[in-house]
Amino acid sequence: MVTPVIPTDFPPHVLRQLRARQPQLWLNPSLAAAVTPSADLDSAPAQARMDRCASLLADVFPDLASSAGNVTSPLQPVPAFQQHASATPGRWFIKCDHALPVAGSVKARGGFHEVLAHAEALALAEGIIAPDDDRRALASPEARACFARHTVAVGSTGNLGLGIGMISAALGFKAVVHMSADAKEWKKARLRSRGITVVEHAGDYAQAVEAGRQLAERDNTIYFVDDERSLPLFLGYTAAAQELADQLADLNIPVDATHPLFVYIPCGVGGAPGGIAYGLKQHFGEHVHCFFAEPVAAPCMLVQLASGGDEPLSVYDIGLDNRTEADGLAVGLASPLVAPLMRQMLSGVFTIEDDALFRWAYRLKHTEDILVEPSAAAGFSGPDWLASPAAQPYLAAHGLTPHMAQATHVLWSTGGSLVPPEEHARFQARGQQLENAA
Ligand SMILES: *Cc1c(COP(=O)(O)O)cnc(C)c1O
Repeated sequence: MVTPVIPTDFPPHVLRQLRARQPQLWLNPSLAAAVTPSADLDSAPAQARMDRCASLLADVFPDLASSAGNVTSPLQPVPAFQQHASATPGRWFIKCDHALPVAGSVKARGGFHEVLAHAEALALAEGIIAPDDDRRALASPEARACFARHTVAVGSTGNLGLGIGMISAALGFKAVVHMSADAKEWKKARLRSRGITVVEHAGDYAQAVEAGRQLAERDNTIYFVDDERSLPLFLGYTAAAQELADQLADLNIPVDATHPLFVYIPCGVGGAPGGIAYGLKQHFGEHVHCFFAEPVAAPCMLVQLASGGDEPLSVYDIGLDNRTEADGLAVGLASPLVAPLMRQMLSGVFTIEDDALFRWAYRLKHTEDILVEPSAAAGFSGPDWLASPAAQPYLAAHGLTPHMAQATHVLWSTGGSLVPPEEHARFQARGQQLENAA
């Protein structure tokens, strides 16, 4: 294998800070005012699929009965957290995907959508359902017998495995999760307790994905959910945009030139934040400003986008090690599907040290009594970055400087509600210790 060469136009000061593992805000020079939605990347069919499968989900998951099978999360104002955190004006909200039912993370959105799409396709092909049938028929004994002859496999550091594993098993599929060395023990244990097969790999996330992909290629009863390349997964995430738009509208919060919307989303391989950002851009255009958050050891999207091209460039290639406590974000190479889509859409990326993740998670618990996992806290320094000198050129260029008091900041909280209490206690103790030392 040839070692990729760092492109000569990779901005030297960005590279220097990346290598020094110093948190930074990178502003995307390729951000375009208008984005052209592509016909095959429309979020409407994904939304329609989730809608027609809602009654099915309510039937197979007791946790979803109260929401009638809708996979949605609250948009929660966090005034105490905001006041404690910083002087950044505007209104802050947490988008509570850590509380998404069944999967306990943002992965419920993309993962459920892809497995449902696969189940529909199989059942249609086998004549078990007709196109217009009630999707509750996918829980019939006939459908289950069909699914039992098929396997759904996925490679994951943890949360995607939980999401895919849970829904696949609930529909009667055999489920196999290929996990990387950094996957947490409790996640493996939980999967196994649901009858899901866990295959452990010594390597990192990309190697676990590759192993799963290869096994599936040799066996046509295995359907592989490919986190690095999957369109159905990406499209499932885009549907979050309509949900957020509805929630803001319900609160009478405008999004326009004088009421900018800032969204901060933790980024691993890029599928979840990319899908959400894509959907939001379709909805709000230039009035939404999407920023991704990545650990200083694993800033794969920043590295790929700052490289200026589509030739894969990983965090290893620039000398970083991809070792972070944020297991959901421990990805060395950005999705080759998503990175090009973000090139003109993403406002920027900021990086964060692991210690800060624990401090933010502690502050959120302390002020609002919300528990999140460290990965999910990665975006919480977003409003501070926007108030910092580093962001002023961006605000000025977009005419936003006079309007920041009317800004809405959405901190996307991506996981945590399934984390065992003893793990949360450990996160909190570490955050408290760091906070007191500061
Ligand atoms: C997976 C995950 C993300 C990021 O999603 P990607 O699609 O990998 O970019 C963020 N936070 C948590 C908690 C996750 O599990």
